[in-house]
Amino acid sequence: MNHTTEATSWSVAVDRAACIGTGVCVSTSPEHLEIRDGKAAARATETGPAQYLLDAADMCPMAAITVTETATGRVLAPEE
Ligand code: SF4
Repeated sequence: MNHTTEATSWSVAVDRAACIGTGVCVSTSPEHLEIRDGKAAARATETGPAQYLLDAADMCPMAAITVTETATGRVLAPEE
């Protein structure tokens, strides 16, 4: 068995040039995202796993939010 003591960390990136400020993502995942100067921004660039953060990235009409596994860089959302 492979037990790891390191908590999984996710990275959140918002492409503010692509964001059109709908606020959909903020309603879905207010813990992780906020509107700053009319566009979405990550409250923190790294966070623990949360399904609703993936939902927010999947819902964005501009695919402006990318969630990756910090350790590997694997893209978790949006889905291709
Ligand atoms: S859902 Fe997408 S376009 Fe809308 S505010 Fe969030 S990042 Fe911007």
